[in-house]
Amino acid sequence: MRLTSARLRAGLLAAASLTLVAAVLPPPPQALGIGDRLFPDLGNPGYDVLAYDLSFTYRSNKEPLDAVTVISARTVAPLERINLDFTHGTVSSAEVNGRPATFQSVGEDLVLTPRTALPEGVPLHITVRHTSDPRGRADGGWVTTGDGLAMANQADAAHRVFPCNDHPADKAYYTFRITVPEGLTAVANGLPDLPVHRAVGARAAGTTWTYRTHHPMATELAQVSVGDSAVVRRTGPHGLPLRDVVPAADRTRLEKWLAKTPGQVEWMEQRVGRYPFETYGVLIARASTGFELETQTLSLFERSIFTDTGYPEWYVESIMVHELAHQWFGDSVTPRTWSDLWLNEGHATWYEALYADGLGKYSLERRMREAYQRSDQWRAAGGPPAAPRPAAPGEKIGLFRPVVYDGAALVLYALRQKIGTAAFDRVQRRWVAEYADSVAGTDDFVRLASQEAGTDLTAFLQPWLYGKTTPPMPGHPDWSTPKRV
Ligand SMILES: [Zn+2]
Repeated sequence: MRLTSARLRAGLLAAASLTLVAAVLPPPPQALGIGDRLFPDLGNPGYDVLAYDLSFTYRSNKEPLDAVTVISARTVAPLERINLDFTHGTVSSAEVNGRPATFQSVGEDLVLTPRTALPEGVPLHITVRHTSDPRGRADGGWVTTGDGLAMANQADAAHRVFPCNDHPADKAYYTFRITVPEGLTAVANGLPDLPVHRAVGARAAGTTWTYRTHHPMATELAQVSVGDSAVVRRTGPHGLPLRDVVPAADRTRLEKWLAKTPGQVEWMEQRVGRYPFETYGVLIARASTGFELETQTLSLFERSIFTDTGYPEWYVESIMVHELAHQWFGDSVTPRTWSDLWLNEGHATWYEALYADGLGKYSLERRMREAYQRSDQWRAAGGPPAAPRPAAPGEKIGLFRPVVYDGAALVLYALRQKIGTAAFDRVQRRWVAEYADSVAGTDDFVRLASQEAGTDLTAFLQPWLYGKTTPPMPGHPDWSTPKRV
């Protein structure tokens, strides 16, 4: 093409120079995600977090905590900006690799702009000074308790507590430094350093408790407990250090339940192999969450499930085993995407049901037959196990529907019926051994099950995992789901 009009040529040149200007200025900060089907805004592209060092100073539930989040990461792409997930706190400063960075909140992202762009494959050291606010609507993150705080971040609420790459696909090591007033006890995931007492009159009088994880962890599994707590120690199988965190006033009353953990760990180890972490224990909180949560090495329970007399003992025990089983399934082996949630909940429900079966209270076969009868309804309401429907807006835990619990345990039962108990047990053991401290998804499970079965199970498992309706149960031709009219 040849330009013939001077006016047109001038116009085109002006447009071209505008394009050039646009090309050198980075686009305005925007909220980003890594494309999770269920939580598109979670996680951020361009870097891999190696470690978080989180410092919190707690005074009371009536005011925000002061916090410093230090992130050690590595870029995996050239970055002009660094997106973190963060909301519900006020940021006072940010540094990238030792130099101040500008910061801006966009949606639920905190976008940092370092002075110079970062190339791919370099260390990234981020420091953010901020507050972390436990007040307001309780929909994940900090949980206020009768005597302090606990944490419940699953699935997408860690970034209500600290700036992070809030997706389970990016696991990292953690150090927690929690300063609390004298008289309160702080506990977090992992093992403690010795607490450091600061003199009254110092700027932050109180005690700083430090904990470190010895294994990588997903943001959703972080736990920090502050309260008038007793830390009860005992030893589990092969010297595993156990520590439970309970309201100090309830220590004696709860001992009967705490004493069950060593036997439960042994029971799980007989089925799937060594416990995967450096310690375990239950955190019993004076809170009404409506759920229990498998926070890594320290599972969170509501006090009422142990103290309300309405629950049968076998039921409470099986719930304890559910959270314990998650330490292998969900914590050590973390889902690659949130659509893989069935691998967490299906397995935890499986061992919960197996344990109840062993106690002679509720047979696995009866539970699975009942699940089979309801499975089509569950699929209609929540989607198939491996492609669940997104939660409704504002319903943060709405993803946790029956289809990913008993509906997914039913998939495991179908697999066992198909390949036999010996091959099924080998699948379970290999799964937690080969993907320990790692992430894995549904395709990985199908591949591993096929290997152990000695035949490609894709065609068998596909309708179980992704079908709108429930396939026939191998070995139980008489099982049926009610026809919908
Ligand atoms: Zn669970």
